[in-house]
Amino acid sequence: MTNRNFRAILTGSFSSPCADNPTVAMMEAAYAHDGIDARYINCDVSADNLKEAVRGAVAMEWVGFNCSLPHKVAVMEHLNEIAQSAKIIGAVNCVSIRDGRLIGDNTDGKGFLASLKQATDPAGQKVLLLGAGGAARAIAVELGLAGAKSIMIANRKLEKAEAIADLLRKNTDCAAEAVGWEADLHVPEGVDIVINATSIGFGEKEALPPIALQSLTEKMIIADVIPNPPMTRLLREAKSRGCTTLDGLGMLVNQGIIGAELWFERKLSADIMKRTLEDIFGVTD
Ligand code: NDP
Repeated sequence: MTNRNFRAILTGSFSSPCADNPTVAMMEAAYAHDGIDARYINCDVSADNLKEAVRGAVAMEWVGFNCSLPHKVAVMEHLNEIAQSAKIIGAVNCVSIRDGRLIGDNTDGKGFLASLKQATDPAGQKVLLLGAGGAARAIAVELGLAGAKSIMIANRKLEKAEAIADLLRKNTDCAAEAVGWEADLHVPEGVDIVINATSIGFGEKEALPPIALQSLTEKMIIADVIPNPPMTRLLREAKSRGCTTLDGLGMLVNQGIIGAELWFERKLSADIMKRTLEDIFGVTD
């Protein structure tokens, strides 16, 4: 098989072997199902070798690759173009290679937005965003660009929430407010969408972000970025109060779909991707 037919997608990965990486399994299942003649493989790339790894991907005529931490910022200096939201976010996790040119995008927030849009259009809505790390930053920027009316960012380290609020005020029309997050946070009346973008709940079924659960109302949409386990305690509590819930699998699946659209101009099957992740995460219901 020549390189031209073997259009591999390079991904940066730093600990997980291929067999244990859910994104690899999800993408390969979709490629096989949708008849895309490509592979999605993990490559362990050290910070020192990033430049050479990017050049290698171009030399081998790969159509693109994802970058995970710690390469999301460093990769930007090796690219020819950076998409608008990735520029604002200040991080790239998805690179397309067209005619030898490298174009950087950020699919973290876009994947979340695509998942949210299956439940509601965020335009004109009031959002409470829990957390101010990389995922929160990407989600905030995409929601701001999508016309959210206001975003309140709550974080233990207030300065990180303030940095995102500043970013939103400078780059979008969205009203933004940062609040410190100490005890049980009361969800303000009028909030339409609450998003857990912290790492609380990752691998811990009973972990719960410290919010006042009685302040959740059934009109609200409660979304969690945690992909594993997908049905987090926050989502279970929200569901029992009649809220609409969105799990982190949707964000992960939609990131894969957006990446493949950039690389192949093809839409992958969401169902097969979701089922693959559910099998890996042992979801039974
Ligand atoms: P970061 O490490 O950049 O940010 C973590 C955030 O969680 C920070 O705001 C941190 O607060 C907050 N946090 C962690 N522990 C606590 C706690 N006990 N109480 C209050 N706040 C806490 O991580 P990322 O933003 O990169 O990722 C966050 C989560 O999103 C991860 O679990 C990741 O798996 C998930 N994710 C899911 C994706 C998907 O497709 N479903 C895609 C990307 C990420 P502080 O700043 O105060 O420390």
